[in-house]
Amino acid sequence: RESAAKKFQRQHMDSGNSPGNNTNYCNQMMKRRKMTRGWCKPVNTFVHESLEDVKAICSEKNITCKNGQYNCHQSNSTMNITDCRQTGSSRYPNCVYKTTKLQKRIIVACEGNVSVPVHLDAFV
Ligand code: UDP
Ligand code: UDP
Repeated sequence: RESAAKKFQRQHMDSGNSPGNNTNYCNQMMKRRKMTRGWCKPVNTFVHESLEDVKAICSEKNITCKNGQYNCHQSNSTMNITDCRQTGSSRYPNCVYKTTKLQKRIIVACEGNVSVPVHLDAFV
């Protein structure tokens, strides 16, 4: 089955790309990355930086995650990200999202013998 590290990449990494003026970015990407199967995942962040730069966050500032685990890390630098948020009129299976481009620090949870991102907790 899909590893937690691969799931993170599928759900959150979109290196070398950005929505530009495409207001349908989230509608397309949430579907393409399989987050509209069985339900509409309500909130999801895509990161438009290299995988190398996102993996490096695992050795940056250690903080407590929203769920109380202590394996979260906040990026030292701001990153180009896109916030996808389900609209009020979205109804499964026709999942509809608002696309918002942001430049924020991101918080990821890291796990593994070689610590890699497995969860995107928030942006600040
Ligand atoms: N999520 C995200 N960006 C955010 C907040 C949440 O991509 O800024 C995703 C992430 O995959 C997370 C999931 O939404 O695992 C659920 O988030 P959270 O646990 O905060 O939501 P809850 O289910 O507690 O409302
Ligand atoms: N996880 C973690 N810290 C957290 C939340 C999740 O280490 O604060 C781990 C969890 O143990 C699992 C992985 O992140 O191995 C994926 O969790 P989830 O599916 O909730 O995250 P998402 O993929 O939705 O971001």
